[in-house]
Amino acid sequence: MLDAEFFRRWMTTTAASVEREAERLTALDSPIGDADHGSNLQRGFRAVREALDKEPPATPGAVLTRAGRLLISTVGGASGPLYGTLLRRTGKALGEADEVERGQLAEALGAGVDAVRQLGGAAPGDKTMIDALVPAVDALGQSFAAARDAAEEGAVATTPMLARKGRASYLGERSIGHQDPGATSSALLIAALVDASAETEAGGE
Ligand code: ADP
Ligand code: MG
Repeated sequence: MLDAEFFRRWMTTTAASVEREAERLTALDSPIGDADHGSNLQRGFRAVREALDKEPPATPGAVLTRAGRLLISTVGGASGPLYGTLLRRTGKALGEADEVERGQLAEALGAGVDAVRQLGGAAPGDKTMIDALVPAVDALGQSFAAARDAAEEGAVATTPMLARKGRASYLGERSIGHQDPGATSSALLIAALVDASAETEAGGE
């Protein structure tokens, strides 16, 4: 079972890997964007980590809705509202439960991804974060590690795609040949689930 502490670790582990990979995310956003994706997410996840450290919410759903709200209010750019919506909607779908199973998280994250698709209008193949998130949700029923691998493969698979949404779409054909920064950060978010769950096992909880 996954409790509020697991979800807090998921968010703080994501914050740490965004911190570590910020330069790479910004570098990916340079040829097909405006070179701010790393700094955008760094600002957002720093705010999330600080808020959750200071006052940890009591339930899994509350951790994610709080994180989502903070991302919306602190991240400029398209990715703030999109990631914020992802986490808020996922948190809302988890409801008030003190603990949830991985299958419930898979279902809730599916609802979160649907909300992102609705907000941003992107479909699979449009070279966005959706291309990492959809395969991750599909694999999450299997295991966290399967979801991590699926998200990473999904991110890598954006390289030959033509961007149809967001800033990169302004480049048309010239967007081809570059990995999407948002799909790359989504793979970090999903990979952090593995680290958060490994700590649960190591802690013998
Ligand atoms: P901005 O494009 O405003 O500078 P960021 O650089 O922080 O914002 O984020 C860019 C990423 O956001 C893209 O790589 C892409 O994955 C994602 N993105 C942009 N527009 C959309 C959209 N309509 N739907 C889904 N994801 C999107
Ligand atoms: Mg950008």
